[in-house]
Amino acid sequence: MINILLFTCNLRLSDNHTLNEASKSNLPILSLYIYDFAMYYPNFFIGEASRWWLYNSLFSLNSDDQLNGKLNFFSGHYDIIIEKIIQKYQINGLYWQKDYSELDNKLISIAKKNNIRSNPCIGKLLWEPNNIMNKNNEFYKIFTPYKTQCLKFIPNKPITKPDFIMIRDNQTLSLDDLDILPKNNWHKKFDKIWKVGEKSAQIKLNNFINLYILQNSSILNNLSIKKDINKINNIKTEKNIKKLFDKIIYNNIYEDNILGYKTLREYPGIPGTSYLSPHIHFGEISPHQIWWEIQNKISHANQNNIIHYNCFLNEIIWREFSYYLIYHFPNLYNKNFNAKFDFWVDNYDKVKENAWKYGTTGYPIIDAGMRQLWNTGYMHNRVRMIVSSFLVKNLFIDWRYGAEWFIDCLVDADIAVNSNNWQWVAGCGADAAPYFRIFNPILQSKKFDPYGQYIKKYIPELKNVSIEFIHEPWKEYNSSSNYPSQIINIDETRKIALSKYKLLKNIN
Ligand code: FAD
Repeated sequence: MINILLFTCNLRLSDNHTLNEASKSNLPILSLYIYDFAMYYPNFFIGEASRWWLYNSLFSLNSDDQLNGKLNFFSGHYDIIIEKIIQKYQINGLYWQKDYSELDNKLISIAKKNNIRSNPCIGKLLWEPNNIMNKNNEFYKIFTPYKTQCLKFIPNKPITKPDFIMIRDNQTLSLDDLDILPKNNWHKKFDKIWKVGEKSAQIKLNNFINLYILQNSSILNNLSIKKDINKINNIKTEKNIKKLFDKIIYNNIYEDNILGYKTLREYPGIPGTSYLSPHIHFGEISPHQIWWEIQNKISHANQNNIIHYNCFLNEIIWREFSYYLIYHFPNLYNKNFNAKFDFWVDNYDKVKENAWKYGTTGYPIIDAGMRQLWNTGYMHNRVRMIVSSFLVKNLFIDWRYGAEWFIDCLVDADIAVNSNNWQWVAGCGADAAPYFRIFNPILQSKKFDPYGQYIKKYIPELKNVSIEFIHEPWKEYNSSSNYPSQIINIDETRKIALSKYKLLKNIN
């Protein structure tokens, strides 16, 4: 007798309930990774950047000393592969991490048909979507009451790694046989940017919450870091923020540290966030591990720092909310959550879409964001909001085109989080941004990239433009740069967008 353990988006050994459950009976475990290209949402395919991450994550998992190359790889549809395995062995149970998608139903019915025990295990989410309902037993559509309800339940603490015996199937493919890596070499550059796998995820979390990485120790002598970070939070005027930017950016004082998160997370030119998103998506680290590491810090933190920890946890809860919504509204990825928006009229234009995709719209913050995405597989959250608003509300291209491009290019591409955020920006989502909130790319750029640090990093054509003109290079007299001119006028398109939204408002 053996147990089957499926690895899906839980590519880790620590705090892995599926592994713990499968090993409880002391039976040998056949662990499988099935590369089911089509995934579990109709017409939804895993993107190229994600395929690069997945390959490396599987490589890392399989190289772990405890697994020691005993992960069995198969390619094809879940039902076909699992049926074959069931016929070959005497199976006690089928174990997988609950996916909260069609996959769960599929696996339950395979197990039932073959008379084996099915064991969907927790681990992906902090709160079960079915347990968080309002007084009328309906699901929450607004984030804050959802969060309040969630916080009434304490998430599980991480569990320790069990001992287990893994077996190897003689028909397993090699990881390379799965053909996961895209054929082009676009993803090659990611090798130098990202460190993939469970260990890297743990190190990243640990550095983010525990370390000040000081690049220039001579500056340390002149500064009290904590005092300085506290100052940031009290700073209201742009002038003072700029002063502080001098210190932070040019001296690289803080890097990836949580004790500035609430403020620094908004500035794309500063590495002020955790960069954990791809690790979380692939389950190299569990939300429970993150939750409890932060709770532990909160219990020892002084009052001034607690806002940063809570702000970070809030984002983790936004992730939960995305999964919650797609669980209760499975079409979130391709249908407007607010059906009124079905009457919104698009103006799809391939040329404009391409200018957006490849960062040649003539608006520096948009182009820097899209080029960051293309070159790194990642984009800063603030800039994701600006570029998505621009696509939908200035170019009048449906959010689904943008979401599809993100899914293809992001290493953290996540159907629930991506769809929820796109719908939020487009105004058609649950608890969405109000329709009149149309990000002005120039003002956003001035506010959040005041020194054009981010813009210059990704747009070499603008590297010699002065700070005065970096947000609107077309205003610079005698500009000799080969940077493209603006493809649309943001003031005119804003007016059109507002009138379109007003029409929708009157629909019942
Ligand atoms: P941190 O600021 O360090 O946040 C910690 C974690 O909280 C993140 O890793 C992520 O898991 C979660 N989180 C942060 N912001 C959000 C958010 N707005 N909504 C839900 N969860 C959040 N995130 C993805 O993981 N995958 C996507 O496909 C994705 N698509 C997006 C599309 C758009 C249009 C927008 C506006 C945002 C999208 N986000 C997506 C959310 C957010 O931009 C990223 O999670 C964040 O930038 C990742 O960087 P980080 O890990 O440094 O974030």
